[in-house]
Formats: sequence, structure tokens, C-alpha cells
Amino acid sequence: LIIATAASVAIAAGLTAFFRVRPTKSILQQQRQSQHPVPDLSQLHATPLIVIPSLSSATGCTIIAKCEMLSAGGSSKDRLARAVITDAETRGLLIPHESHYLVEGTVGSTGISLATMALARGYRALIVMPDDQAREKYELLAQLGAIVEKVRPCSIADANHFVRVAERRAKEINEAGELNANGTPIKAFFVNQFETPVNFETHYTQTGPEIVEQLKSHGFEILDSFVMGAGTGGTLAGVSLCLKQAFGENLRVILADPEGSGLFHKVKHNIMYSPHEAEGTRKRHQVDTIVEGIGINRLTSNFSQAIKLNLITDALKVTDKEALEMSRYIMRNDGIFCGSSTAVHLVAAVREARRLGPGKTILTFLCDSGVRHLTKFWNNEYVTNAGFKIEGYGTHKSRPTT
Ligand code: PMP
Repeated sequence: LIIATAASVAIAAGLTAFFRVRPTKSILQQQRQSQHPVPDLSQLHATPLIVIPSLSSATGCTIIAKCEMLSAGGSSKDRLARAVITDAETRGLLIPHESHYLVEGTVGSTGISLATMALARGYRALIVMPDDQAREKYELLAQLGAIVEKVRPCSIADANHFVRVAERRAKEINEAGELNANGTPIKAFFVNQFETPVNFETHYTQTGPEIVEQLKSHGFEILDSFVMGAGTGGTLAGVSLCLKQAFGENLRVILADPEGSGLFHKVKHNIMYSPHEAEGTRKRHQVDTIVEGIGINRLTSNFSQAIKLNLITDALKVTDKEALEMSRYIMRNDGIFCGSSTAVHLVAAVREARRLGPGKTILTFLCDSGVRHLTKFWNNEYVTNAGFKIEGYGTHKSRPTT
């Protein structure tokens, strides 16, 4: 059932090889002078597509998942990190091995991808995160040598929001003008994943075409729906545009939105760009999040690309309970140990399949693995204390509950 088996080992090896090669300064300088383009290694890093057996047989549809969890850094954020670093280097805003800082506000995955690449490129990673995320993400960042600053979750309108603190830290480093070992000032680059156009462009020019090529080379000429959540919205917007161009305007794009996120409401009411507006059934920063990585209360410029281009067909709200049950269901039935955002995607994909009826083809993303969520989403005590009684927990179930 595996469509593409570009093994994760190959991805890891390719990425590591690319970044482990530390060219001497003179080679780097020559490269800069001769304006050599950075090679596009996106095909080397292609993540597999798989058909999810249990959900496909339960719905009569073909439910396909892009396995971004198998990227070297453990999530699709490797693509964003690689593209942002490459772009900043090309524009001369970052110079490898000069102790420059990559600074970012993230709930984890982007920070982990940046920290990995920072090691290989000779940067320092300064990561600002809300303090309510799964513990293993902070521990992994620390092991990767990143400086981690934790802040209380709050609205983006608050100056202590993790994104705004990150932006401030970058400014402070640039103003301090500290010198590195070579006597040149240490610069900081604020990645700004939520707003940077590099995010949307990367998914439009790399992730999207990679999927189209994989699907078409395996005989899929028709794709009926693409189901995706939004953190920054870059994946949703960039991939949707590419897929619509490849498979036609009739492709349905379904936003999978977790509890507490305001995006569902905005899509349903077609509310346009408003960066500081907060509107949701329950504000995510006011509750302990069960689902991490997707669902926010503002329209980032990456997400609003999808609204401006009229890409989204519909939005589905997925409860935490449904996500928890789905994660346990596909673990028992398919051996897929997924993270929380992936579980939201799969619930929405099944609901979309039931709505469309048998015979359709639906694509979604496996964003990260459950290993990143062992102390929260995959911790029985945490889940029980959060008030959830997971039906059928630990048992084999013959039908998904959604
Ligand atoms: N899944 C995970 C695990 C994530 O961390 C994120 C983003 N933080 C996403 C999905 C969503 O991707 P995007 O930012 O492109 O919307």
C-alpha cells in the first residue's frame, strides 16, 4: 500500500549530507561572489505518500497521507526552515558559521527544524515558545543546543506573545552589536513563519509539486479533496493553490480546525485579513491545549493567502475528544503513531469522505509523530486529568467513531 517509499533514512541522509558539508570560508565567499544558486534538493527529500488502510476501507474512499512526520527534523517544518535560511543567506541577511542567530516564535516544530539546521550551518537558534507545550519539545531543543525562552500563552495583541517576544529579541541582538570571534557584528534574523511569504511560496513551489508528481506517477489523475489544518496556514494555502492548478478548480479544500481555534468561524463567515483580531469559540491561549501545532485565532498573512485566493471550500471543526480517539484508532488499526494535529486531519478526512460518499480520493498530511507528544496527547494520566474518557482506549475498534 505504500505508494512512494522514499525512505526516511534517505531523507535524513540527504539532509544531513547537505548541511554537514561545511565549506571553508573561501569557498563560501567564492559561492557568494559567483552567485551560484543553492541547489534545489526538494526531490531528494521527498516524503512518502501512503494510503491509510483502515480509514479507506471504512469509508470506501482512498485516503492518502503525505508523511511529513518522516522528514529528518520530524515535521514539515524542515521545508520552511530550509527555505527561510536559504532565502536569508541569498539576500546576505545571514552568513553561515558567523555565529548569527536564527530567532523564532514557535510552538515547537519550526524551532526544532531551525535548531537542527542551525547546528549544521553554524548559527545559533533562539526559540521563544509558549510554556504549555509537550515537554519533549523543550528537551529536544535543549539537546540541539537551542536557547529556549518560555512565555505564558497569551493573545497576539499582548506584547508577551511568543511571536512578539521573538521579534523583540532579534531586534535587541541586532542593536547590541556584539562581535563574533572574527570581529564582525553578530546579527539576528527573525524568521517570522506566520507572516513571511517564503512560507507560502515554499509549499506552492516545492511541497505541492512534489505531491502532484507522486500522485500522477502512481496513476491518480483525480483528486477530490485536500484536508489540512493551519498553524501559519502556509501549507494549506501553498499546497492548495498548486493542487487546484494541477487537478482543477473543483478540488475541494477543507480546513480541519481544532477546538479553540477561530479559523473555522472566519472561514465560515468569510472574514478577511485582521492580524490582531481574536475570535473563537474558546481562545486557545486560555486553555490547556490538547492539540498542538494547528489552530489559531488570527489571520496570518500566510493563511489569508488562502482566503484572498478563494481556495477554501469549507471548514470542519474537530473536537479534542475526536482527535484523541482517532489517534488511538489508527495506532491500533494501522500502526501509525501520530501527533495531535495529524489526528485532527484524519477525523476531518473521514468526515469529508462520508460526506462525499465512496470512490473519492482525499489527501491529507501526517504532520508529526506521537513521539513528540508522549507527555501530553499520548499520556493517559494527562488526558484523563484533562477530563477525557477515551472510548475504546487500548482496544481494537472496527470503525472510526467520527
Ligand atoms: N502540524 C504541526 C505538527 C505543526 O507544528 C504545524 C505548524 N506549527 C502544522 C501542522 C501546520 O503547518 P502550517 O504552519 O503550514 O499551517
